[in-house]
Amino acid sequence: MKASSHKLSPALWEARKEECRRAARRLLDNTFVSKPGDINVEAIAFEAGCLCIEEGGLDGADGRLVADGKVGGKIRVRAGMPRPRFRFTVAHEIGHCCLHAGGFIDRTDSGKTFGIWNDPGEEAEANVFAGELLLPHDLLVPNVRGKSPSIKLIETVAAEFLTSPKTSEEGKSGGVSAKVAGFWA
Ligand SMILES: [Zn+2]
Repeated sequence: MKASSHKLSPALWEARKEECRRAARRLLDNTFVSKPGDINVEAIAFEAGCLCIEEGGLDGADGRLVADGKVGGKIRVRAGMPRPRFRFTVAHEIGHCCLHAGGFIDRTDSGKTFGIWNDPGEEAEANVFAGELLLPHDLLVPNVRGKSPSIKLIETVAAEFLTSPKTSEEGKSGGVSAKVAGFWA
């Protein structure tokens, strides 16, 4: 964590968070996301830094990113996590890769780092990035505009954003597509 991050004024922190969201939106554009069901964390991890995802192999942590900017790397996620948690963990590690990697990077995250949102620093930055990646403002707004708030609406929107690509990636062979199909099966 960079000590300088703690000195940010509220205005600078807002600007920094917007930078993080912009980085997430760039990745969504680069992976041709136009609707919630397109948000495919496997494909995005690969696009972000040739990152592969593996479950398990962690000792007490929820997520870990080990990567080298030139040759790619790996995101490990604790085995058996519920799907939304799995996706958020991957998105958070992609955030570290996009925002904080200057060459080799090795970071480990546990439950509490995913709860840091307003304390300026790299953990909050990775969470802001992950939030925008999984619930992009531009895709979220059309889902709720003009509709009365209700539990049903929240459930419907959450379902649309948190479950996804299965069909479009099935039937293709090789690489990311095959792995994605496996993850969503
Ligand atoms: Zn982190």
